[in-house]
Amino acid sequence: MSTLYPSPAETAAAKPKKTLVRRIAPDRSQQVRRAVQFAFLLLNAVIGVQFILWVRYFESLGSSHYFGRPAGVDGWLPIAGLMNLRYFLATRQIPAIHPSAMVLVCVFLLASLVVKKAFCSWLCPVGTVSEYLWKLGRKLFRRNVAVPKWLDVALRSLKYILLAFFLYIVFTMPVQDLGDFLASPFGIVADVKMLNFFRYLGTVGIIVIAAFVVLSVFIQNFWCRFLCPYGALMGIVSALSPVKIRRDAEACIDCGKCNKACPSHLPVDMLVQVRSVECTGCMECIAVCPAENALQMALPPRTAGETRAARWRSRTLKPQMVAVVLAVVFFGLIGAARLTGHWQTNISRDIYMQLVPNAENFDH
Ligand code: SF4
Ligand code: SF4
Repeated sequence: MSTLYPSPAETAAAKPKKTLVRRIAPDRSQQVRRAVQFAFLLLNAVIGVQFILWVRYFESLGSSHYFGRPAGVDGWLPIAGLMNLRYFLATRQIPAIHPSAMVLVCVFLLASLVVKKAFCSWLCPVGTVSEYLWKLGRKLFRRNVAVPKWLDVALRSLKYILLAFFLYIVFTMPVQDLGDFLASPFGIVADVKMLNFFRYLGTVGIIVIAAFVVLSVFIQNFWCRFLCPYGALMGIVSALSPVKIRRDAEACIDCGKCNKACPSHLPVDMLVQVRSVECTGCMECIAVCPAENALQMALPPRTAGETRAARWRSRTLKPQMVAVVLAVVFFGLIGAARLTGHWQTNISRDIYMQLVPNAENFDH
């Protein structure tokens, strides 16, 4: 029986088939991103080992070799970083305790402003481990678990709730109390307490971490997508970035490969630009796209009148450029903080000798 309205199959058949103009140059985005991820993972491992040796010096009451405290360890204290940032915004004074925590928060916020939420998929060690866990799961079981849409949306909101909670605490605390807290024995050895948390994990801690690992094998970016408040913050800031994943509907052949490849489950093939705060700029979608110039990480198109190809060429960010931008922001801000004396915590060895071995005795 004929109807007035065509079925979806008839509509698809009626669409003029687009000709594929195949990409010539091989895509290197994932190799470049992997190199950056592993360099950052290695940097974190070196910082971790140096920090453990630094703590050991004080715990052995000075009988082991002294290693300087790696200020980069403060990158693992994002709450202290936000507190310092609030303190700085209110007083225009950079705190003497854990200033690098604030510097690193600024590095990652600036990076998000420039190249989307690239912090999550290019730099964050937790993001890297998380990514390789789900890739392992896919290798072992040929697929990851697809979370139903309604549950996915509900779970994704958890990280924003957590972020709101932390921001509320930090931004409603009187500035004087913030300063006192950061300069208290608890604030000074917050880094050592974090290390102790992982060194002396109780049964509950082990079960929780094991559960996260197992869930991350089955569900793509379980921690990052659902629970990480830091990633949520970077995502919100990344909405202001002029750089977006952009699709040229004329060059696109509607194969849907980008859609399937996106770890954030974004409908890339339906969009002209990906505005979502969930886009991590991982470029997985670009890596699988078969059509020349169909999908790019790019600035907004310039003026009309330019040919499409010229427009792309002048506005596209190649993966190497993303890596360079991240390096410039990272080393630039850290270099500036070092030069101006706002990188290292300003605490003498004698005070650390009193505090570090007793870190577990301090409570806030
Ligand atoms: S849209 Fe592309 S860059 Fe953004 S998260 Fe998805 S795959 Fe990664
Ligand atoms: S991968 Fe996505 S952007 Fe590329 S041709 Fe297929 S549908 Fe279009």
